[in-house]
Amino acid sequence: MNMEKFDLLEACKDAGRIFISGHIRPDGDCVSSCLAMYLYLKKAVPAAVVQVALEAPSEVFQCIKGFDEIDSTYTVEGAVDVFIALDCEKSRLGAAAEIFDNAGKRINIDHHVSNERGCGDINYVVPGYSSTAELVYDLFDRQYVDAEIAKAVYIGIAHDTGIFKYSNTSPKTLRVAAELIEYGFDFPAVIDQTFYEKTYAQNQLLGRALLESIVFMNGNCIVSAIDKKTLDFYNAAPKDLEGIVNQLRITKGTECAIFMYETGNLEYKVSLRSCRYVDVSKVAAFFGGGGHVRAAGCTVNGTFHDVVNNISKQIELQMRAHEEEDKLAVKR
Ligand code: AMP
Ligand code: MN
Ligand code: MN
Repeated sequence: MNMEKFDLLEACKDAGRIFISGHIRPDGDCVSSCLAMYLYLKKAVPAAVVQVALEAPSEVFQCIKGFDEIDSTYTVEGAVDVFIALDCEKSRLGAAAEIFDNAGKRINIDHHVSNERGCGDINYVVPGYSSTAELVYDLFDRQYVDAEIAKAVYIGIAHDTGIFKYSNTSPKTLRVAAELIEYGFDFPAVIDQTFYEKTYAQNQLLGRALLESIVFMNGNCIVSAIDKKTLDFYNAAPKDLEGIVNQLRITKGTECAIFMYETGNLEYKVSLRSCRYVDVSKVAAFFGGGGHVRAAGCTVNGTFHDVVNNISKQIELQMRAHEEEDKLAVKR
């Protein structure tokens, strides 16, 4: 593990060009940590040209300073001295992977358990940490932090902890959040704007997913899917489906929630969530994906039924092992 903090400004001090990027289909933590890093380095390393590139993020993140400077064409105007890969490893950098390969120095900051070693020359990878945003903030020299940077970090942490309620929220996470709101940005408003507010189409899709959900495995699992036809009907993008799996997860009595949407012919993006004991990062890793113990994802080929059968087989193995452990514990 590479849990040691490093000197970020020392690592960037001679850089002429710094390039920041994160994972494909960027989520709140990814967008926020990239922008926090971008705003910070522009201020703390003024001699460098700092670029930030991501696949087009959801418009809800407009409220973060620097949002309009995110480049979704991945144009590099010169040699990249330092590449900072955030909230993922190289395999999920998408179009930025090639730029990463050609960079002089690579830094990787991430909190996914599935990112075992880190893919950089310098790695700050702490599995189980609330968010990449919290890791990024660990590395900031406080003299350069301002309200806009604090706001970006806060949004990242809030998103990856389901607004400070998932088990990845540590006492330190809450202390950091307290420190951040002291900078004086409108923290209730940014959470409403970026997390809770839904468009009419997003709510319709959530409604359909809930209506068509199926509880199985004696009530331990819940699954729902949205097909391509429905996505096209609502003119929806993957980012319009965020939050659906979390709503499924809180169905009373269920341990695991599976939400999937069709990405191509016989291909589904699968989101997995668990409540207490199933390690969904292991389930996702079995299908070439990854993530965290309680939230993970992967892409699986097959019909809806094939995918559900294959995924639930992996979940069932863990549930059986858990039952066996329980029985042994009773005997002891
Ligand atoms: P999602 O279900 O897409 O919200 O993802 C849940 C968590 O797992 C997030 O932290 C993602 O970054 C991570 N994740 C999703 N898909 C993958 C994948 N294919 N490989 C590695 N991590 C993933
Ligand atoms: Mn992410
Ligand atoms: Mn994250």
